[in-house]
Amino acid sequence: MDNKSDGYCTLVIFGATGDLAKRKLFPSIYNLYKKGEICHNFAVVGVARREWSDEFFQENVLNSIKESKVEIGDDIDEFLEHFRYLAFDVTDKRSYQNLNALLHNLEEEYHIPSNRMFYMAMAPKFFGTIASSLKSEGVTNEKGWNRLIIEKPFGHDLPSAEQLNDEIREAFREDEIYRIDHYLGKEMVQNIEVIRFANAIFEPLWNNRYISNIQITSSESLGVEDRGGYYDHAGALRDMVQNHMLQMVSLLAMEPPIRLTTEEIRSEKIKALRALRPISVEEVDNYFVRGQYAPGEIKGEEVPGYRSEPNVDPESITETFVAGKLMIDNFRWAGVPIYIRTGKRMTEKSTKIVIQFKELPMNLYYKEEDQMHPNLLIIHIQPDEGISLVLNGKKVDATGLTTPVKLDYCNNCIDGVNTPEAYEKLLHDAIQGDATNFTHWDEVSLSWQFVDVISKAWEKGGHIPGYKSGSMGPEESEQLLAKDGFKWWPIIDGGSYSI
Ligand code: NAD
Repeated sequence: MDNKSDGYCTLVIFGATGDLAKRKLFPSIYNLYKKGEICHNFAVVGVARREWSDEFFQENVLNSIKESKVEIGDDIDEFLEHFRYLAFDVTDKRSYQNLNALLHNLEEEYHIPSNRMFYMAMAPKFFGTIASSLKSEGVTNEKGWNRLIIEKPFGHDLPSAEQLNDEIREAFREDEIYRIDHYLGKEMVQNIEVIRFANAIFEPLWNNRYISNIQITSSESLGVEDRGGYYDHAGALRDMVQNHMLQMVSLLAMEPPIRLTTEEIRSEKIKALRALRPISVEEVDNYFVRGQYAPGEIKGEEVPGYRSEPNVDPESITETFVAGKLMIDNFRWAGVPIYIRTGKRMTEKSTKIVIQFKELPMNLYYKEEDQMHPNLLIIHIQPDEGISLVLNGKKVDATGLTTPVKLDYCNNCIDGVNTPEAYEKLLHDAIQGDATNFTHWDEVSLSWQFVDVISKAWEKGGHIPGYKSGSMGPEESEQLLAKDGFKWWPIIDGGSYSI
């Protein structure tokens, strides 16, 4: 592949006046420009309902970059010139014809080959219409490449995801579709593969002989904020588990790929998801617990409960917390529970993976007053990025007892290392035609298959446990592990790992 000319393209952002474009996309595009990943031969067309001028759009792009952490350089004016705006009605064919004409002009002006990237940053209900109109009106062209980037949510269950997929597949081939899961753009999520497959000390231990359980936590301290309307129909299971949590599970559980290519990696991830033990509606309570945040305190400030949030049904039974136990029924993982938990209004914002190793068969150091600590490998995904290893060392005294020792490697503490935003990396990959860190349809469909059973069980009603805002979820989540003889490890950095 000619990588350099692949970076020459036009990028059309559907929903360019929205929150995602403002907070994530514009700063990421500018960073790519500053790094020379995209150069003179590119243009961005912002598409949305409002009547904006090019100048007003460019001003908005500038403001969004100013509000981000990205440093503005002398090249900013030249950069902004590449941005154009088109007022658009997604249901009107003429809008697509205008878009096509504008793209032709820009391709001529900036000597861009007919490589076109379409970024869907608006409500999913429009994705199908947009994709088919792009094709019918000739906006997807045959001279260069066409790629479609799709934001989550990809459906709200398997049938709706299938319908959406069928609609977009009418206009785009599977290899032209880039389904974003922004967790896959995170530095430390990408690092899971490196930790596993580039370290002789981990890979031989990465199985049910040495690992007792795995715990993945992705907690938010924020509530639903102004997304109550969307969230009340989605819930934590659809918003977090179906995509981000199961993606992390598949990266941790997959077999080593024979090559680091998109196809090989995806095929191993898909196999891991296929090995997930299916659970029936009747069994859901044995494997999954849900919760909903009640009033409480976050960092000393009182916060309301979920049912009092704006645009949330005061009798809502939507879960804002999920904890679950997954079993992967294959040779490598048989018998090793993978626990996941995610929720809003929890103690801290943190995403972490804890791999707990089995105890030694004969513990020479065991005394009544001393318990050896299990070895832990902790992968810090966000906000800290790094790895910790918890080992046992000797207590510096005459007792002969052991004490846990924590070795830390912090990725984002090193001076000058500023890891790129997930969106920057994913945009870069999509421009280069690398789909490795995007989700294949098979992954999406397997995840929905798994999650739909849980939704079905929960939709029947039943008791939804409350948990105090600022806590780590309901008591039922602790019991889920306790009945297997485990407990959740703390997520707070610097927190004690002693038992
Ligand atoms: P938003 O409501 O802020 O913006 C929606 C955009 O779509 C606006 O530019 C609006 O003008 C445009 N739009 C709506 N109806 C239109 C129509 N009929 N014709 C033309 N334009 C129309 O939404 P957002 O938060 O930017 O989210 C966009 C997508 O990204 C959604 O699918 C969302 O789930 C997803 N997403 C957003 C975030 C985030 O951080 N905001 C994160 C992950 C995924």
